[in-house]
Amino acid sequence: MLSRRTFLNLAVSSGSAPALKPQNVEFVRAAGKPKKVIIVGAGIAGLTSAFKLMQAGHDVTLLEARMRVGGRVHTLRGPFSEGLYAEAGAIDFGDGYPLITRFMRLFELPVVDVPASPKAVIYAREHRYVTAQNQEPDWPYLLPAAERQLGRAGIWQKYIVSAYTQIGDPSAHDWPQAVEHNFDNRSLNDLMRRRGLSEGGVAMLHFTLSGDDYDHVSALQSLMTESFIARNRKWMRIQGGNDQLPRAFAAKLGSRVRYGAKLAKVSQNARKASVSVLHASGLQQLEADHVIVTIPFSVLRHCEIDSSVSSGKKTAIQKMRYESITRVYLQSRTRFWTEQDVGGNAVSDLPFCPVVDHTASQNGTRGILEAQIEHHKAQEVWAMNPDERVSWTLKYME
Ligand SMILES: Cc1cc2nc3c(=O)[nH]c(=O)nc-3n(C[C@H](O)[C@H](O)[C@H](O)COP(=O)(O)OP(=O)(O)OC[C@H]3O[C@@H](n4cnc5c(N)ncnc54)[C@H](O)[C@@H]3O)c2cc1C
Repeated sequence: MLSRRTFLNLAVSSGSAPALKPQNVEFVRAAGKPKKVIIVGAGIAGLTSAFKLMQAGHDVTLLEARMRVGGRVHTLRGPFSEGLYAEAGAIDFGDGYPLITRFMRLFELPVVDVPASPKAVIYAREHRYVTAQNQEPDWPYLLPAAERQLGRAGIWQKYIVSAYTQIGDPSAHDWPQAVEHNFDNRSLNDLMRRRGLSEGGVAMLHFTLSGDDYDHVSALQSLMTESFIARNRKWMRIQGGNDQLPRAFAAKLGSRVRYGAKLAKVSQNARKASVSVLHASGLQQLEADHVIVTIPFSVLRHCEIDSSVSSGKKTAIQKMRYESITRVYLQSRTRFWTEQDVGGNAVSDLPFCPVVDHTASQNGTRGILEAQIEHHKAQEVWAMNPDERVSWTLKYME
C-alpha cells in the first residue's frame, strides 16, 4: 500500500493546498439508554470507537497495554536534529479517508499536502532511472511487445483497475457476493498471471505493489486496498507529526483511557461481557454490556478467548498472516537530492522499497530518508546490531 502511494507521489504533481477548514462535525446521535462499553487497544480503531461512543453518551473505558495511545500511528522525535521527526507507523492519509478527514477538522489539526517530486527516481536491475512526471523508463525487463507498449501505467490499467472495478462495493452490507468470492481463492499475482501478464510484467508491478504480499494475500483483499487507494486524489500528513491525532482523541477521552492495561482474557455470556486485564499491580476482572477488541490478531491470538467466539473466527485470529516491516532512518546534513531536482522518495528492486523522504514537508536543512524493508529481510535486518543495520542500509541507499 505504501509502495503504491510512494510511486504515485513520485509520478503525480500536486500543488500545496490549505489545511482542512475546521467544521462542526456530529458523528453519532445521542444514545437512548447508556451502555457500559470496554474497548481494548488505543490505536486509531479503539480511539475512534471510544470517542464516538462517548459522544453518544455511553460509559466508555479504553484499555491500552502501552503507556501511550496511537498504536501504529506513532511519531519519532528523537534522536533527530533541528526538531525534525519521522513516522514509525502511518505516514500519509488521503482525501478519500472519510472518517480521518472529519476528525482532522473536528480537532483542527494542521494538515499539509505531501509534496510531489519534480522527477521520479527508480532503481531497477542495477540501473538508476530518473524520469519526468508521468514518464516511464525503458524498463529492463523481458516484456512482450504489447506490454512494452502499454508501459507500467497501461499494464496497471489493464490488469489492476479492470479487476478492482469487478469487485463491487466493499462497503455494501451484503458484500462480498459469489462473484467476488472468485477473487478470494487466489493471490493477485496468480490472478494477473492467469489473465496473461508476463513474468516481466509481474516484476514491473512490484514497483507499485508491496511485493511478496501479493503472492500470499487473497486477490480480493489486495484489490479492495487498491480501489480504496485509487479513490484518493491527494495525500496529506499532519504538520508536526501524525501522533497529534491519537493525542487529540486521548485529550478528549481523559481518564477513560487506562494505560498499562493488557488484555489477558475475554469472555461473554447472554447477560454481560468480561475481560481479565493485567496491570503492574496484578490481574483485574472488568465487566460491561459490550467489549470491543481492536488489538491486532498477532497479539490477540496470545489471549484467552472463551467458547462464545465461533471456531471460524478463532481460526482466523490464529492463522491471519502478518508481515514484518523494519524501517531504518538515515539523517543527512543536507537535502542533497533537491539539488538534483528529484524528490527523496524512490522505488527499487533492492532489498528495500520504498525509500521515503520524511522531511519533504518539514522546515530545516537536514533530511531524513527511510529505507523500508519488508518480509523475511525485515527480520534479518532487525536482528543486526544498530551499526551493522546502518552500514547495510547505507550500502544500498548510495
Ligand atoms: C510501517 C507502517 C506504515 C503504514 N503506513 C500507512 C499509511 O501511510 N497510511 C495509512 O493509512 N495506513 C498506514 N499504515 C496502517 C495503519 O498504521 C494501521 O492500519 C492503523 O494504525 C491500525 O490501527 P489499529 O487501531 O487497528 O491497530 P493498532 O494501531 O495496532 O492499535 C492496537 C493497539 O492495541 C494495543 N494492544 C496490543 N495488545 C494489547 C493488549 N493485549 N491489551 C491492550 N492493548 C493492547 C497496542 O499497544 C495498540 O495501541 C501503516 C502501518 C505500518 C505498520
